[in-house]
Amino acid sequence: MPILQQFGSLTRRRLYYSVAEDGPLAPPAEAEKDAATTTAAPSETDPQAQAQSPQVATAPAEVDEARQELARHYARQRQMLSLINLGISAVVIVVLLFTGLNFALRDALGGVSAWSPVWGWQPLKITAYFGVLFAVSFVLGLPLGFYGGYTLPRRYGLSTQSLHGWLIDQVKELALSLAFEVVAVEALYALLAAAPLTWWLWAGGLALLVTVVLANLAPILILPLFYKLTPLPEGDVRERLLALAHQARTRVRGAYSMNMSARTTAANAMVMGLGNTRRIVLGDTLLDRYTPDEIEVVVAHELGHQVHRDIPKLIAVQTIVMLGGLYVVNVALHTVVSRVPGYHGLNDSATMPLIAAALGVFGLVTLPLVNGFSRWVEHQADVYALESTGKADAFIGAMTRLANQNLSELNPSSIVEFLLYNHPSIGKRLAYARRYAKAHHQEDAQQL
Ligand SMILES: [Zn+2]
Repeated sequence: MPILQQFGSLTRRRLYYSVAEDGPLAPPAEAEKDAATTTAAPSETDPQAQAQSPQVATAPAEVDEARQELARHYARQRQMLSLINLGISAVVIVVLLFTGLNFALRDALGGVSAWSPVWGWQPLKITAYFGVLFAVSFVLGLPLGFYGGYTLPRRYGLSTQSLHGWLIDQVKELALSLAFEVVAVEALYALLAAAPLTWWLWAGGLALLVTVVLANLAPILILPLFYKLTPLPEGDVRERLLALAHQARTRVRGAYSMNMSARTTAANAMVMGLGNTRRIVLGDTLLDRYTPDEIEVVVAHELGHQVHRDIPKLIAVQTIVMLGGLYVVNVALHTVVSRVPGYHGLNDSATMPLIAAALGVFGLVTLPLVNGFSRWVEHQADVYALESTGKADAFIGAMTRLANQNLSELNPSSIVEFLLYNHPSIGKRLAYARRYAKAHHQEDAQQL
C-alpha cells in the first residue's frame, strides 16, 4: 500500500522482538521434503552418519547451499519489489504536490460538511480526504501486494496458505489499518488546529501512550485475530524455560506455542507484551523440528530480551525517532504553507500529501538508525543465550536450521544489511558463536 505507508508509520510500530528476521520470509513444504531426503538418504548408505544421527531431528544442521542460492534470488526479488513500491509512492506524492492535484481533490470534496466541533478542526473533511487517498493507495498497491504477498512466497514454497485464507488475512489487516490510521490522522489534524506550534510534542506524547497500550494489548487482542496461541504443554521445553528463567531471576508471565504452520513453513520465536501480558512465543514450525538443545538456546535468546528490558527500550527509541519525524513535519508544514499559495492553513486537508512526504523522507533516512539499534539489541540477546546456556553448538545448529528453513541469506551485502536488517545476518551470528565456542574451549583448556 504505497502512498499511505507514511501514515501507517504513525500507527504501525514494531511491538516485539523475534529470533529471526521477520516479514514474509518463510520456508517451503517442499524444503521439508528435501531436508528429509537429503539428510536421511545418506544415513541409509553411510553407516557412520547413521550411527551419529539416528533421526533427522537430531542430525547436526548444515548450511544447504542450494537453499542459499534460492535465498539470494528471493531476497533480490523482494528488494526489487520494495524499490518499485517506493518509486510508486514517490511519483504519486510528487504528482499530488506539484500539479495542484492536492488542492483539486480538496475542492472536489467541497460538498462534504465543514462541521467543526472545536478549534476549527473539520473531522468530516479530513476523513473524506484521507478516505480517497486510502482508496487510491489500496488500488495502486494491489498488483504488487498480491505478487509480493501471495505469489512470490508460494513460488518459493514459503507459504502454506490458500488464496482464500490469504485474502481473509488481507481484509482483516486492511480493516485494522484503516481504523487505526483514521483515528491517528484525525488526532493529528485536531492537534494541528488546536496548537499550531506545539502540536508535534502533543502528538509524540499521544503516540507514546498509544504504543504502550498497544504493546500491552497486542498479544491478547491483535495477534489472536491471525494466530492461535496455546500455552506450552508440560514437558521438557517448558521445564528448561522455567529453569532458565529461574537462573535469570526473571518471572516469565507465559510461554506459548503459535500455529505459524497454518501460514508458513518458516520458523520464528518472539517476546511480546508489556507488563501483565509479557510472554515468550514459539512457532510450532520451530518446536516441531529443532533439537531440545536448539530450542533451549532460542528460548534463552528470547529470555535475554526480557532480562534486558528490550521492549521498553524499543518503545523509547521509536518515540524519540517519531518526535524527530514530527518535528521535521512541523518545519516542512510551516515553511510550505506560508510560502505556497493555495493552502488554507496547517489543518487544511490538502496538507496531507505534504505530511506524507516529510514523514516518508524522514522514515527512509532514519530506517538504518532504527535497524542498527535493533541489530545491537539482537546481538546482546545472542550473547545472553550463549552465556546463560553455554551451548554454542546448539546455537550454531539453530541458526543454521533457521537459514535453511526461512530462506535467509547467510551473507547479504553489507549495504543491504546496514539498511534493511533488524537482526545481524545469520553469517555474522554464526561467526560470533564460533568465536565464543573457541574462546571458551581455550578457557576450559587453561583451567585444566
Ligand atoms: Zn531477538
